Amino acid sequence: MSVKVRTRLLSVIGVVGVGLVAGSLLLWHAQLGEMLGLAADKEPVVSSVSAPALAQPPATTKATTTPTRTPRRTPSTPPTTPKTTPTKSPKTTTTPKATSEESIDGLSSKLRTRLKKAMTGARADGVTIKITSARRSSAKQQRLLNEAIKKYGSYKLATRWVLPPKYSAHVLGKAVDIGPTAAMTWLNKNGWKYGVCRRYDNEPWHFEALTAPGTKCPPREPHAVAKAD
Ligand SMILES: [Zn+2]
Repeated sequence: MSVKVRTRLLSVIGVVGVGLVAGSLLLWHAQLGEMLGLAADKEPVVSSVSAPALAQPPATTKATTTPTRTPRRTPSTPPTTPKTTPTKSPKTTTTPKATSEESIDGLSSKLRTRLKKAMTGARADGVTIKITSARRSSAKQQRLLNEAIKKYGSYKLATRWVLPPKYSAHVLGKAVDIGPTAAMTWLNKNGWKYGVCRRYDNEPWHFEALTAPGTKCPPREPHAVAKAD
């Protein structure tokens, strides 16, 4: 071999070698770039996914919802109490108890009707009949009796003024106390026309429907008497 040939061969080999090396390098680089590119593409995906996933751990929201649910579940037993309260309220709203003691509405229909007519008659004579006490609850009557016992010193004396609930015409809506004095005087004189009579000597304010309208009232009693007891 001549020197020229050797150099050519070498140069060819060198070119080819360099080319191969360069090509492989390029390939490798391309693959690497792909890999990097893929990795770069995946990274944002991964991060975006993981970020919301981490952010959602609105573990806080889960924590808040659970506590709120538990209290809601525990009160699920109380609903029974609201059910009992409505049943209690209708019991308390019984009409006779709801009407005030000064109202004519709590009286028996017989006494109410007669008293209304008497009030109209009194007004024609320039007298106004005012109701001071009509129907009373048993509790109120008992309270009045207790007070009277303190005032008069004994049960027997107290019942001359205030009868026990079970004997009281007021508790039944069959008695009315009126005022002022002019009204008492007027009704004592004219009550018989309407069937309304004063019953006791010691209580000029106390009237009951004791006779048929237009007929004489029965003789007055000195005071109330508690029958039994
Ligand atoms: Zn009375």
